[in-house]
Order: sequence, then C-alpha cells, then structure tokens
Amino acid sequence: MDAESVLARPDGVRIAWTTTTASHRREASRQLLRELIEPTQGEIGFQQQCPICAARDHGPLYVQLTDTVPAPSRTPRLVSVSYAGPFAIAAVAPSESSAFAIDAEIDSDRTRAAVKEALGPDTPDHSIRAWTRLEAIAKAHQTGLRGEWTEPDTTDFEITDLQLPRTEPSVIVSIARRRHLC
Ligand SMILES: [Zn+2]
Repeated sequence: MDAESVLARPDGVRIAWTTTTASHRREASRQLLRELIEPTQGEIGFQQQCPICAARDHGPLYVQLTDTVPAPSRTPRLVSVSYAGPFAIAAVAPSESSAFAIDAEIDSDRTRAAVKEALGPDTPDHSIRAWTRLEAIAKAHQTGLRGEWTEPDTTDFEITDLQLPRTEPSVIVSIARRRHLC
C-alpha cells in the first residue's frame, strides 16, 4: 500500500484508500483493512451481515481474528468501509470505541445536487458533509437510512470529517465514533 494513501489521525482512527473498479472494490477494501490492522493480530477474516435483510454482501463488517494469536494479544477492532467514485476507503477505529463507521462521497456538483434532492429543501444544511455525517452516524448505529436518521441521537459520539489528501476527484469522508463507556 502506498504510504501516501494512509492517514493516522490524532484520535487514533486510521484511514486508507485506493482506486479500484466496481467489480474489485470489495476485495480492495478488505485488503486495505488487512494492511491497517496490526500484523500482531495474525490472520484475519471478515464477516458481513445486514441486520435488516440478513444478506451477507452488505451491512456492518466485522473483523474475525483467528485463534492462532493468544487471546490476551487479540485486540478486536471496529472497522468500516465506504466507496466513492473510483475509490475504496477503509478505516479502523482505536480500541476504545464502541460504535464506528465512515461514509465517503465525491466532492462534486453532481453529488451536491443529489444530496440536496435526497435531504430535501427543508433541511437547513444540505452540504455533502451533512450527508456523509448522517450516513456515517446511521452506519455506526447500524440502522441504515431508516426512521429518524436525519435527526440521529449522537450522544457520546465524536463526528469529524475531512477531505482525503491528493485524491482526484476529491473525496469527503465523515467519521462517526462512539467512545467506549464503561
Ligand atoms: Zn439488507
């Protein structure tokens, strides 16, 4: 993985991205996650299941650590992937996280128009970032875009967004993370 396409944030979230094609994006995102997760975690697998329709090709993604690594060294990580234009984007949460997701969109007039239409004229903020924040929060809650998703409960959440450096077209990513509360 090109070192220029990895971002280690001060909050402990690590993000990587790559260009891919529609038919390879699943494998590309999982490869990014394998490279983001510490090699001390050994072989890792992924499991995905939609909480709504039970399909296994979408929905929350979970890391499966194999038992070749002694239990005390295993650090379960929350992960998330998103796709925008030609990019696959993957992120790993720091260990003290109890909910986590990212969402990405291409920063373009076309996305802006689609977001404005999707959120409706009554939504005060219909920027691309408003959209990616809402999607990231909905993914972190594992509810999808249903119910009151445009006015989500963000208690204990940290929500941040950024423009991925050196991407053409430019990519906006929002991160929703709930800190672990004991
Ligand atoms: Zn589903």
